[in-house]
Amino acid sequence: MNSLLRNILNVFYPRCCPVCQKILKDQNRLICPECEKKLKPIGQPRCYLCGKPVEKGEYCADCLRHPHIFDQGRGIFVYDDRMRKSVLRYKYSGCREYGEFYARAMYLYGSRDVRDWNPDLIVPVPVHRTKLRMRGFNQAAFLAEKLGDYTGIPVRQELVLKIRKTKSQKKLTAVQRRKNLEEAFLVNGEVNGKRILVVDDVYTTGSTVDAMASCLKKKGASAVYFLTVCIGRI
Ligand SMILES: [Zn+2]
Ligand SMILES: [Zn+2]
Repeated sequence: MNSLLRNILNVFYPRCCPVCQKILKDQNRLICPECEKKLKPIGQPRCYLCGKPVEKGEYCADCLRHPHIFDQGRGIFVYDDRMRKSVLRYKYSGCREYGEFYARAMYLYGSRDVRDWNPDLIVPVPVHRTKLRMRGFNQAAFLAEKLGDYTGIPVRQELVLKIRKTKSQKKLTAVQRRKNLEEAFLVNGEVNGKRILVVDDVYTTGSTVDAMASCLKKKGASAVYFLTVCIGRI
């Protein structure tokens, strides 16, 4: 976007902090200085597999209980109350500019892992077309495209399709979630021997990433990783 257009837009739609919602005094910033100080990425020790914060040990209780199909992954921030509110505004209240902050944080704090994983492709978690019509955009695809711009890794939005609507996952157990998602995805392209990075906004139990990893690996993908903005605690 050229700077004149950005300046005009800023007068009518000033950019807000994705955490505290205050209008940013410096419109070139993506987060206010106060929130930036407080919002820390998940550091060590964290689960070797999913990256959730752990007190001690190599794996979180969740990964010890349920074997995963994906190979490794991590979320940048803990999915606490402030981030839950932030992501809800991003998804449902039209605060798409938050995506710019999320994607930059994913790149800033996750690029070392991405380099280690060395993926051939970035694939966003897809949404069903009915949901896409309602919501107007795929929040994961937005992040995937931005991450693709930062890393130079090709993004394939249509590689995995959501072919069946899934019921709200909130009230289901982990096993039910997995079953619910199993046949909801369709791999729509060649993935043989490919290393794939799945991108989404939030990771909770891992059932979505596992369901996608299962489909991708059945089609020959050699490894599946994930990177999300937020990750739930155990
Ligand atoms: Zn703030
Ligand atoms: Zn874990």
